[in-house]
Amino acid sequence: MKRLAILAAAALALAACGEKAPERSPLATEGVTDAMIAAGNGEEWLTYGGDTDEKRFSPLDQVTTENVGELQLAWYADLDTARGQEATPLMHDGTLFVTTAWSMVKAYDAATGKLKWEYDPEVPRETLVRACCDAVNRGVALYGNNAYVATLDGRLVALDQDTGSVVWEKMTVPDQDNYTITGAPRIARGLVLIGSGGAEYKARGYIAAFDAGTGDEVWRWHTVPGDPAAGFENDAMEKAAKTWGGEWWKMGGGGTVWDSITYDPKTGLVYFGTGNAEPWNPAANDRGAEDSLYTGSIVALDAETGEYRWHFQETPEDRWDYDSNAQITLADVELDGKARRVVLHAPKNGFFYVLDAATGEFLSGDAYAQMNWADGLDDKGRPNIQQAARYEQTGQPFIGMPGAIGAHSWQPMSFSPKTGLVYIPTNNVLQGYLADKEWEESDIGFQVGLDTASTSMPADAAVRQQMADLHTGALVAWDPVAQKEAWRVSQPGPWNGGTLATAGGLVFQGNAGGEFVAFDAKSGRQLWSFPAQTGVIAAPMSFSVGGEQYIAVLAGWGGVWDLVGGVLADKGGPVRNISRLLVFKIGGSAKLPALPALNDMVFDPPKFTGTEEQVKQGAGLYARYCSVCHGDAAVGGGLVPDLRRSGVLPSDEALRAIVIDGQLKHNGMVSFASAIKPEGAEAIRHYLIKRANEDKALEGK
Ligand code: CA
Repeated sequence: MKRLAILAAAALALAACGEKAPERSPLATEGVTDAMIAAGNGEEWLTYGGDTDEKRFSPLDQVTTENVGELQLAWYADLDTARGQEATPLMHDGTLFVTTAWSMVKAYDAATGKLKWEYDPEVPRETLVRACCDAVNRGVALYGNNAYVATLDGRLVALDQDTGSVVWEKMTVPDQDNYTITGAPRIARGLVLIGSGGAEYKARGYIAAFDAGTGDEVWRWHTVPGDPAAGFENDAMEKAAKTWGGEWWKMGGGGTVWDSITYDPKTGLVYFGTGNAEPWNPAANDRGAEDSLYTGSIVALDAETGEYRWHFQETPEDRWDYDSNAQITLADVELDGKARRVVLHAPKNGFFYVLDAATGEFLSGDAYAQMNWADGLDDKGRPNIQQAARYEQTGQPFIGMPGAIGAHSWQPMSFSPKTGLVYIPTNNVLQGYLADKEWEESDIGFQVGLDTASTSMPADAAVRQQMADLHTGALVAWDPVAQKEAWRVSQPGPWNGGTLATAGGLVFQGNAGGEFVAFDAKSGRQLWSFPAQTGVIAAPMSFSVGGEQYIAVLAGWGGVWDLVGGVLADKGGPVRNISRLLVFKIGGSAKLPALPALNDMVFDPPKFTGTEEQVKQGAGLYARYCSVCHGDAAVGGGLVPDLRRSGVLPSDEALRAIVIDGQLKHNGMVSFASAIKPEGAEAIRHYLIKRANEDKALEGK
């Protein structure tokens, strides 16, 4: 009754002012239109996933299994950032639009590579402290004559496609402490859709729709319920609140929509995946071993109104960071003799799901990767969770597979209607999960509730080798109808690139080892490769200009695995980031410059003069506040300084100036004074000196 009364009062107030819902801008009639986006890709590539099904399948067939050996570099462009590159380029009307790290946008002549314009949103570098996973961005959306980019610090910016000048700009995130954006916006009939990241901080997940013409917010749908005392926004939130314990809303709840958004013009539904519940350890804020809806789920809304239609939870009682944010692909397949429109999904948790696209009904599911957290799915698609995986209940460490980077993360998969196969970049990565009983939330950094110091990599060569052997990757071709693997290509390390399938019978993928490779889509046989000089994590795309088919990919190693993986992040992957846009065609004649020689890395730590007490304290602080960027056990992955080799190690004053006073905040290294005291900074320094001496002793062994 109370809610009804409030609604009635609101309606009266609106009527009294003579207000009504703001007028929506007319649909685009020139430039990129709804009809063009809905028609799917051909010569152009108009939306992040290639088409509204997000199949990442190019119907172009000039480059084939027969002639791919003649594929050569047509042109390349050096990028002015040295962070991870995760974007898929879009192509319209002869212009290639890419985003780079730090949410910058560049427009190139698609045939020649001539830079037409560039845009820098000047994201404050301090934003990095609330960005879990590097300063990455996954691409623009195109609609009408605009290109839309969402920036790391939470803005949605409309740019003129011809000039790159700003048409409008809106702040979309609720606060400047917990939310960041790395995903690509999507278009749904005059609306620009975007969510945010932040489920490792104190964010309340949502997806929001903005008027493409004005940037006005049209609707916003939260993925987790807020404080019940404030009233629920809708029935879906009221239902979800029954699946949470404790006072979950105080830390936001998580469930952020940081990557997948799929708009289906055929049904008018928008599908998106949600991230983990916050914090990871469900005992840390008493949210309990509950489902915590709608985290770890796929949700479908009416795109026009933002009203709830259905949800399917892939990971109930998540405590492993098994985000469901991986790309959501729609496909028309035949199941048991019936034509069905389905959702295909391979989230972090390692199961491949086929759902009915209209209702969310679970149709089938099976493991596409190694796992030990669950033993299969029941007939409703709910995982049989292993008790050992409930680490906050056992009090024991759980060495989980997959780990938090997932059996498959944001690196896009592709689906070929010609082969009926899905091409998934997969990871075999372990992670130690141990509840920290003494844990308390703080105002800065990761808020996950784990004892990460106790599960970090020891300085033991044999253990390191063992762990390295267990961390691998694979390109898996998966048959979604039979729910079984068709073929796999094993890769020495995890964190390889997204994939592109083409009508020429090819699958393209870059990898952590610095190669860009073409495979036979039917067999997985390698047909061609190109030395990219740097790890490739982004997905390729294809377009045609002047009667010639091109394949384009952003190269540039980085992202969360480089930052947090420590000694394992170098495995199978180069430590160097050389960020470039690479564009190929049959008979291209461009050549990359020779790879510059690596500077000799000085490894000359000062003598250890601290106490074991300081090392213990320093290890704890390092694991909680530093390791997420500077690497597990103080082994840097290459993007950020390797602290074992830092020139400030000999000086307590110099380190304090950085950690406490924020001297390097303009590089992204802000002050941690709210969480780390001067003696803590000194303890971290002694821990780093100890780690440096340990690893120096391993050199040459
Ligand atoms: Ca997450």
